[in-house]
Amino acid sequence: MAPDAAHKPEREAALDRIKAVLGDKGWSTDADVVAPYERDFRGLFPGNCALLARPAETGEVAEVVRLAAAAGIPVVPQGGNTGLTGAGVPDDSGEQLVLSLDRMTRVREIDPLNYTITVDAGCILADIQETAADADRLFPLSLGAEGSCRIGGNLSTNAGGVNVLRYGNARDLVLGLEVVLPDGRVWDGLRRLRKDNTGYDLKQLFIGGEGTLGVITGAVLKLFPKPRDVRTCFAAIRDLAAVTELLARARSVSGDAVTSFEYMPRLLLDFDLTHLEGVADPIEGRHDHYALIEFSGARAESGMAAAMEDLLGRAFEDGLILDAAVAQSEAQRAAFWRIRDEIVEAQKREGARIAHDISVSVSDVPAFIEAADTALERVLPGIRMLGFGHAGDGNIHYNAFRPENMPDETFLGFRDEITETVYETVRSFGGSISAEHGIGQLRRDAMIQYKSETEVAMMRRLKAALDPDGIMNPGKVL
Ligand code: FAD
Repeated sequence: MAPDAAHKPEREAALDRIKAVLGDKGWSTDADVVAPYERDFRGLFPGNCALLARPAETGEVAEVVRLAAAAGIPVVPQGGNTGLTGAGVPDDSGEQLVLSLDRMTRVREIDPLNYTITVDAGCILADIQETAADADRLFPLSLGAEGSCRIGGNLSTNAGGVNVLRYGNARDLVLGLEVVLPDGRVWDGLRRLRKDNTGYDLKQLFIGGEGTLGVITGAVLKLFPKPRDVRTCFAAIRDLAAVTELLARARSVSGDAVTSFEYMPRLLLDFDLTHLEGVADPIEGRHDHYALIEFSGARAESGMAAAMEDLLGRAFEDGLILDAAVAQSEAQRAAFWRIRDEIVEAQKREGARIAHDISVSVSDVPAFIEAADTALERVLPGIRMLGFGHAGDGNIHYNAFRPENMPDETFLGFRDEITETVYETVRSFGGSISAEHGIGQLRRDAMIQYKSETEVAMMRRLKAALDPDGIMNPGKVL
């Protein structure tokens, strides 16, 4: 949006007041400092901002938002900037203000008896996990970017990750929130209650809101007993149908103690082995399908080893699995997880990729992959599909790579057709076109196309009710 010339002095004056509120450490316009805040993780949506604001506490956030709103300056909240949909970066107008929470990193309170931790929104996810572990508790949200993503970003994208099967999405891990609203008022909803039916559950609006309804400044998070009995295996599986059968068995054999069930096709291992140093194939021979399965029990002797042995033994007898390796040490467990986690880097090195993050019901995962693979082969013969990830949640990262010998540029020319084919297949299974990464800029138009008119109208009404002037993160989600 081009700035209204008549309002330019007013905007400049507001930016000066914002700088004064923040003090020297709290803002920048230096191109080198600001550059990493203007570019999204995948480099798909480069932007420019009028000012980088880095407030140190909630009062400063409120004042920045109040001044920006009064002068009509759009505010783009940002956490660790690891989002994959271009949701946390400014557009290229040079008129938006990036509000980074990266100086707000205080753990406000940990209450082991209430099994809660209260944190600033800028806390890095791995730091929260570590603080919880030091108090003999578990904060279970876990994902590949945990060393740099921040809890405000995790909540605003309703992040999923590798432990959703047992503990739920980010949404399920929150008891209370503190939010700066689009007019600068502070909503103190930092309740530590497990039961509270006093009307609408307002915090849920901001969770998954991608910064379009307000700025999350603090959160009360749920903690859990720290697992003491963790068993991890890497299994080669007969075929896709056997993947869901194995998952269903794993849940019942372990007494529902499956914390992760990550599916990987052979192509994933091939990419890792080609592009990453020091990765080894955990199982001899080539197999088409693999799963990384983890069981966790809260007590030291929870019987997880026996449950894993039981699962694998019977699955082997019944022909569901062809081979398996059980981690014998923490180092071996880490090596298994590295294969799964570092596929993000291996994919980057493989070349152009058309990424999708879809979900269908868990039992439909095999049929979805087969149907989509077949449809895409018709669109572009030889296309290489890498469908992997959180099969235990019905969430597949379903990414397309060029046929051998096709230049990346030619392949990218098929982007729209490929994505439409994937989304139409998702629709035919009653699935979602964005399981855990959110909408941002990348999937905004597709979301509007694939959601019902009624649903989009309700979302627009909510946005208009909370942010009538469209100050918060414009151009994202809606
Ligand atoms: P940002 O990228 O900074 O922001 C994301 C969105 O949240 C933006 O809309 C932004 O405006 C908004 N926002 C940020 N902070 C606030 C705030 N305080 N108040 C209001 N709005 C705010 N995601 C998964 O769900 N599961 C995974 O397994 C997973 N694995 C990943 C692995 C890698 C290697 C990478 C790079 C990303 C992965 N992601 C995954 C995506 C990403 O890490 C998550 O979306 C993460 O939750 C984003 O957090 P962030 O702090 O980086 O947010």
